[in-house]
Amino acid sequence: MDEDAGGEGFSSAPIKSATKRRLISPECVERSKIKMTFIKNKRGLFKDHHALYEDLSKKEYPVLINSSSSQPGNKVPMDLLKINKALKHVQGVQYVKAAGNYFTKVYFGCARDANAFLQNKDLMESNNWSSKIPYDSIESQGIIRAPVELSEESLLVNLKASCTILGVKRFFKKQQDGCDKPLQTVLVTFLASAHPDHVTYEHIWMPVSEYIRPVLQCFKCYKFGHASGACKATQICSTCSGNHFYKECSTPNNFKCSNCSGPHSAVSYSCSVKAAKVSEVKNRIMGKQTTYAAILKNQPLEINKNSKTLSNLPVSAKTPQDES
Ligand SMILES: [Zn+2]
Ligand SMILES: [Zn+2]
Ligand SMILES: [Zn+2]
Repeated sequence: MDEDAGGEGFSSAPIKSATKRRLISPECVERSKIKMTFIKNKRGLFKDHHALYEDLSKKEYPVLINSSSSQPGNKVPMDLLKINKALKHVQGVQYVKAAGNYFTKVYFGCARDANAFLQNKDLMESNNWSSKIPYDSIESQGIIRAPVELSEESLLVNLKASCTILGVKRFFKKQQDGCDKPLQTVLVTFLASAHPDHVTYEHIWMPVSEYIRPVLQCFKCYKFGHASGACKATQICSTCSGNHFYKECSTPNNFKCSNCSGPHSAVSYSCSVKAAKVSEVKNRIMGKQTTYAAILKNQPLEINKNSKTLSNLPVSAKTPQDES
């Protein structure tokens, strides 16, 4: 991919114009004197990095393949029988497994065979496949706090760590006026199974802390743990909990939460059910064995009072990694 193609990656991304201008600013790239192409997707800004396996101690080495369509955005389902046949003469294949409708995981017993497969251009082209290592096999993520003046691009070019940095994503906060305000919080993705304890930006030392995944809340039924795309329930109103979309609500000032029947919206942080879910995720990260049921049973009032501190955690309808 050349530099222009990388630039196109930015403009197609749904980002606010001010941010976009900052991102495509050519000075950052020139200053660094490094030719890099970047890909902007919902996981953040990523280096166009075709990673190969480096860790040789694993039991198995999965490679994710999918059919590349001639029209971008048009997904092609994978045919396991066809794949099975095409892999007949590929060395080291242990087994193949469907990963959703559009992806297949090919498992290898050693890194050398997996890497040879990843680099086998002829095989990829003749079958119209693209291949990559699944994110969860080689990546880890951590949070840094970086001045808002630094663009994602300049962070990606200048951040250094003990392992390769693959991508960065700055978090934004929606304001009353609808504008996104950049936060100091930046999610960094590393090419390592565990994140390093710090990164540096030129002479600035930045500690890396644990990334607590957002609580997933469905925008259809407003329950937790799944996204609306996968929801088979009927549409519920986040305001009154009736069976309609919230924009069509006839009582927009009368709140009744569908999760706890309390006088607030189903997405509100003052909801004890939501606060308990957030707390559960937080405790899981900290290694505590607190269940959602126990939290609700023992201290629903405390959670309500503390909902302000809990609301520091990001909550969204989708995680940055809901693609595989
Ligand atoms: Zn749902
Ligand atoms: Zn309603
Ligand atoms: Zn509630």
